[in-house]
This record gives sequence, C-alpha cells and structure tokens, in this order.
Amino acid sequence: MNMTSPGSVVFENVRKTFGAFVAVPDLSLTIEPGTLVTLLGPSGCGKTTTLRMLAGLEHPSAGRILIGGKDVTMLPANERDVSMVFQSYALFPHMTALDNVTYGLESSGVKRKEARERAEDGLTLVGLAGMGSRLPAELSGGQQQRVAVARALVLGPQVLLLDEPLSNLDARLRRRVRTEIRELQQRLGFTAVYVTHDQDEALAVSDRIIIMKEGQIAQQGAPRELYDAPASAFIADFMGEANVVSCDVVGIEGDNATINVEGLEHRVPGRNVRVGSAQLAIRPNAITLAPRQSTSPFNGQITHAAYLGDHVEYEVKTTSGTLFVVDAVVETPFAPLTDVAIGFKERGIAIIGG
Ligand code: ATP
Repeated sequence: MNMTSPGSVVFENVRKTFGAFVAVPDLSLTIEPGTLVTLLGPSGCGKTTTLRMLAGLEHPSAGRILIGGKDVTMLPANERDVSMVFQSYALFPHMTALDNVTYGLESSGVKRKEARERAEDGLTLVGLAGMGSRLPAELSGGQQQRVAVARALVLGPQVLLLDEPLSNLDARLRRRVRTEIRELQQRLGFTAVYVTHDQDEALAVSDRIIIMKEGQIAQQGAPRELYDAPASAFIADFMGEANVVSCDVVGIEGDNATINVEGLEHRVPGRNVRVGSAQLAIRPNAITLAPRQSTSPFNGQITHAAYLGDHVEYEVKTTSGTLFVVDAVVETPFAPLTDVAIGFKERGIAIIGG
C-alpha cells in the first residue's frame, strides 16, 4: 500500500491534551485511499477529537498527520483538501440549497458560472435535482443533510469527513441516507472518515471500523472480522450483544480449538490460543435450545421469555447459575421454568482471551 497516494491518511503517534486532560494519548493509524473508515466507540472515547484533528479544527499536541503523503499537522482547515459534513448540517438558512452549495465553491476561488454548474451537478448527484431553489426550511431533514453532503463533495476533497451525519434523522430516514452516502462513496471512490457511536450504522457503511476506547484503538478490522472475532469482551458487547462466559480450552487443532463449557464440547476458531481457561463471547443467536433429555450434557432452565415479533428472546439459567441471553425462532416457544438442553451453532462463538 502506498500511503503517499491522494486520499490516504496517516496518523503517527498523535497525542491530544486539553489542559491536563489527555483525550488521545498516542494514536497511530492508516487509512487507504478510496475506503470508508468508521471511528466507532462510546461517548467520550475521542472519535470527534480525532476527526477534528484530521479536519484541522484542532491541532495535535504531539505527533504528525499526513493526508496524501503531505504533512498537514499544523495546516489550517482550509489548506487541507478535506471537507466535513456536520451532524447539524450547518446550512445557511437564508440561502437556497443551490446557493448553499455554490457558496463553498466561490469561497474557494471558483468563478460564479462554473460554481453554479458544479453546484447543480452536486445536487443532482445527491438526488436533489430541481430542488435547488428551496430554502433549507423547505426541505426535509434528510434532504438538508444531502445538501450538506453535496456542498462538501463538490469541493472535490481528498477526504470527506462525516461527523455523526445521521443523528438528527429519524430511524427510517437514517437507513436510507446511510445507504445513499455509501453508494456515492463507492461510485465516486473518494476516501471517507465517518464518526458514529451506532454499531449498526458502522457495520452497514464501512470498509473498515476502528473501535476506540479512552482515546486508543481497542480493535480495528473489516466489519465481519470485528463481529466474528472480537478481541475482548468490550468489543464483543459493543459490536452487537454477546454472552461472555468462562470455558476451558481442551484441545487445539491448527486454527481451531475445542472448548468445554459446563460439560458441552464445541469446536471454535482459535488462533494463538492456549490450552487452559479462557473467556468466550457467544452471540445470543448462536445458542440452540431443545427439550431437555437425560443424556444432554449442558442444561438450563428458561427464566424469562420475551416475544419480539421475528424471534423470542430467552433468559436461560444454566445448571451452574450462569445467565445466557438466547435469541431463538418463534416456531417452538418455551414457557418460563421449562428445562432445556443448551447447544451451540457453528458460527457466532469466539474465544476472546484467557
Ligand atoms: P461523543 O460521541 O460524545 O461525541 P467522542 O468520542 O466524539 O464522544 P470527543 O468529543 O472526542 O469524544 O471527546 C473526547 C474527550 O475529550 C472527552 O472526555 C471530552 O470531554 C474531552 N474534550 C473534547 N473536547 C474538549 C475541549 N475542547 N476541552 C476539554 N476537553 C475536551
């Protein structure tokens, strides 16, 4: 990978302090050109600070930031070749959609006629052809955010930065606009850095996800890698729900391990795993329940059942007292206090450490 190509981003040992408070202790990361990378993490983990340092709205206390191979660490925002889409859209309320998009181009030196043409193209790109003469107040929230995306895109930045761009939209619209942003990014091939605290959104739009915790990278990878092979209980729980339980690793064969949970043996993927006690993350839909047989090794009792339309969510207490959350099909429901045999499916179970 050539990290001097246009659209690439590199953070080298970046630190950011606010007075005595260390928001980002020492962050190094690389983003490949043409990819959409999401910074994901709980509130206060440093996502926005990281994005703002990339935008030039904050400057690192130490370390370097490179965009397209160029050191931009101390450059002001308008000299960085990035544009940002904000949560609040930040449109001028007294200007039409077209004027809002034209304005940014004119301020960066594009002549009026060309600016208007490019702005028209930008609005067409985001599906707002013919709506250029409306004021922001005459557009829906989703349409306003599309104007903001058009305004950022027409500048032709090396990197588009999106700071929680969907959080002011209702759930249905959020889904639609996120698909539109992802399609646009893939079609035009620009680099995008996307900040969210919503894991579904991150899974849906990203090539790669960087999960942050206390200003540091907790884990990064493709959405599927993070979901299937979480490195810690924090990641497992953050990327969807997980039951975290103790187990024994009783055998290792190549990249697989055999684990034993309360008498039930199962093969799971397991690189760099040692025989002995370990922690396991089990997705609620990776557990099977069946009527209890006298021979079943791993048993429990239903303590709670909630019908959720497309599945039933059970709480099951195992013989040793561990509580599992289990998502199961609606077809054969179990009533509370039913004794059940617990089994595991092929996928959805990962060893997360010893
Ligand atoms: P959220 O999802 O709530 O926006 P975040 O992950 O984006 O959170 P940041 O906004 O980057 O988190 O903040 C990281 C930490 O730095 C927080 O503890 C925050 O209080 C602190 N912080 C951010 N900006 C400043 C500032 N200007 N002065 C002092 N502390 C700040």
